[in-house]
Amino acid sequence: MLWDFEKRRKEMVEYQLRLRDIIDERVLRAMEKIPRHLFLPVEFWLRAYDDAPVPIGEGQTMSQPYMVACMTQASLLKKEDRVLEVGTGSGYQTAVLAEIVDKVHTVEIRPHLAKRAREILEELGYAPRVAFHVANGQYGYEEAAPYNAILVTAAAQSIPPALTEQLADGGRLVIPVGWPEHQILYRITRQGDDFRREQLLGCIFVPLVSKEEVKS
Ligand code: SAH
Repeated sequence: MLWDFEKRRKEMVEYQLRLRDIIDERVLRAMEKIPRHLFLPVEFWLRAYDDAPVPIGEGQTMSQPYMVACMTQASLLKKEDRVLEVGTGSGYQTAVLAEIVDKVHTVEIRPHLAKRAREILEELGYAPRVAFHVANGQYGYEEAAPYNAILVTAAAQSIPPALTEQLADGGRLVIPVGWPEHQILYRITRQGDDFRREQLLGCIFVPLVSKEEVKS
C-alpha cells in the first residue's frame, strides 16, 4: 500500500504513547486499532499519525494522539461506565471511548462537525454505543446524567458548574482550564459533595465557546 497507515499507527503507539507514560493497555489497544486518518478531511490523512493536533475545518483541530491517550487514561474508565464527551470534533476521541466503555454521550456545538463525526462513527460501527447531541456542552447533558466520567476537549475559562453537578459519586471530570494561555489539564474527582482537584499537565486546546461565538 502506498500509505501504510497500520504501520504508522503501531509507531504512534510505541513512540508517542508507550515511550511516554501511557500504560493503560485498553487505551493503547484502542488507538492501535482505530483508523485515525478516516476522521480527517482526506488532504490531512498524511498528518493523521503525527505527534501534533491536525485541522478538521471550522478552525478546530483533532487533538494530538498523546493528549487523547492522556485524557482517556486519566479518566480511569471501567467498561460499564457512562461517559460524557464535550466537543465531539472529528469523533476520534469518541471512538477511543466507545472502544473502552459501553455508553458514550457526545455533545458538539458546531452542527456540521457533529454530522461528519456521526457519519464516520456510524460507518465504523460505533454508533450503537454513542449518543450524539448538538448543543452547548458547557451545560453538560442533563438528560443522561450522572456520568462516571466527563471529558472536555476544549479549554474552559473556569470549570462549568453543570459538569461537576453531573458527575456521579466517584466520577472523574477531565478538563483543560485557562484561555488563551497557561492552560492546565485538570482531573476533578467527586467524592460525595467533595471535589478533589489534581493538575495533570500543561496543554493547548481550542476554546470552549457559547452559541453566539460560533460563526455559522
Ligand atoms: N475530541 C475532538 C476535539 C475537537 S476540538 C477531536 O479530537 O477531534 C474541540 C471541539 O469542541 C470542537 O469541535 C468545537 O466545536 C467543540 N466545542 C467548543 N465549544 C463547545 C461547547 N460549548 N459545547 C460543545 N462543543 C464545543
